[in-house]
Amino acid sequence: MNVEVINTGSELLIGQVINTNVGLLGQELLSLGLTIHRQTTVPDGEGIKDVIGESIRRSDIILITGGLGPTEDDLTREMVSDYLGTKLIEDQDLVKGIRNRIESNGAAMRDINRKQAMVPDGAIVLKNDNGTAPGLYIKPSDKTERTHIYLLPGPPRELMPIFREQVVPSIKNALLEREIEIPSCVNIFFSGLGESELASRIDEVIFDKKGSFDLGYCIKPGGVVVRCIGDPEIVSSVSEKIRKEFPENYISNDHESLPAVVVEELMKRNESVSIAESCTGGAIANLITDISGSSNVFSVGFVTYANSAKNEILGVDNNDLNEFGAVSEPVVRAMAEGCLERSGADYAVAVSGIAGPTGGTKEKPVGTAFIAIASHRKPTFVGVYCFRVERLIFKEKVSMTAINLLRKRIIGLL
Ligand code: ATP
Repeated sequence: MNVEVINTGSELLIGQVINTNVGLLGQELLSLGLTIHRQTTVPDGEGIKDVIGESIRRSDIILITGGLGPTEDDLTREMVSDYLGTKLIEDQDLVKGIRNRIESNGAAMRDINRKQAMVPDGAIVLKNDNGTAPGLYIKPSDKTERTHIYLLPGPPRELMPIFREQVVPSIKNALLEREIEIPSCVNIFFSGLGESELASRIDEVIFDKKGSFDLGYCIKPGGVVVRCIGDPEIVSSVSEKIRKEFPENYISNDHESLPAVVVEELMKRNESVSIAESCTGGAIANLITDISGSSNVFSVGFVTYANSAKNEILGVDNNDLNEFGAVSEPVVRAMAEGCLERSGADYAVAVSGIAGPTGGTKEKPVGTAFIAIASHRKPTFVGVYCFRVERLIFKEKVSMTAINLLRKRIIGLL
């Protein structure tokens, strides 16, 4: 099934509003195993008329967003009916609904509001509980050939409920009518492996199934998502094979966020974590507290940037700081152990590194980072890494690597 999206709105083309609708629709379509083949943005006005003709020729489903408002530049329904040669007919139930909504907000119904009650002959009205512009569904006919056309309001909070509650079931019907089995889509999130290593190893694992399903990769903060779309049986067996190939790096089929997975794992176990940060300046605590529910599992975060703070707050030995430097194995180990002891948490994470661009030496170049994970019943883990990237990306990489190590410690892999 070829799906196309046409977004209308001059505001999208001058950067006044970011086009989030295409992304939201793309995410929802994945649950039906469908992906958007093409997306076009047109300004308000008559521009949509040319595009609709091209789209009908190459698509099975067209989703048009925006331009259903009451003002003169909202011309989607007019242009589509014009192209299809259908009349617009005033729907009395819609007139009543629009009047009720406007009057219940203390305003008066005006003539221009009636425009939103105009329905192309034969189109099905998609109820909008969050605004006055109803969605419209135009079934395949001689004029549209095989294409299903959906006209949807622009504001995301109006668009998405209509899409989820009315368009998705209608698309499912269309798939059934054509006896197309709904493809499945599995997103597998891995951490701790680069995209190219993952891709080459996956190539070997699935060489006999190559071409029988769609395979895609997407880099996310902290990992890579491997996307498999296709026949449900093939996708299920292939995704299982891929998952099993990387037991240490597999994160989840549901989440694409390492911090979310860690918060979930801690909540399951009724455990908590504390964090001692130097080079990340609080970024790890920030990532954890971005997750709803983190207050149940996050005890305290120390940003000990200066050596004196590492000594006074975490109890790091001044001799170690002087002898080995703040970016060193003994110091980061002591930071984690001091943090664990002072916080009373079940796990402690500590990081110290050289974000650059200055401060590197031959032994410890810019990008060096030590990460430690301490917990009560196991020896403290300390790893040394090197991320030769720009300062802000360095902070993100160190943070995500530390969160992944914490995840491994929690689930017993470290
Ligand atoms: P309205 O009745 O609100 O005018 P409409 O269907 O005519 O609805 P538009 O006028 O095209 O929709 O857009 C209304 C508002 O919705 C825009 O100003 C913008 O804030 C938001 N919007 C429209 N299209 C998008 C989009 N593609 N992505 C994100 N927001 C959008």
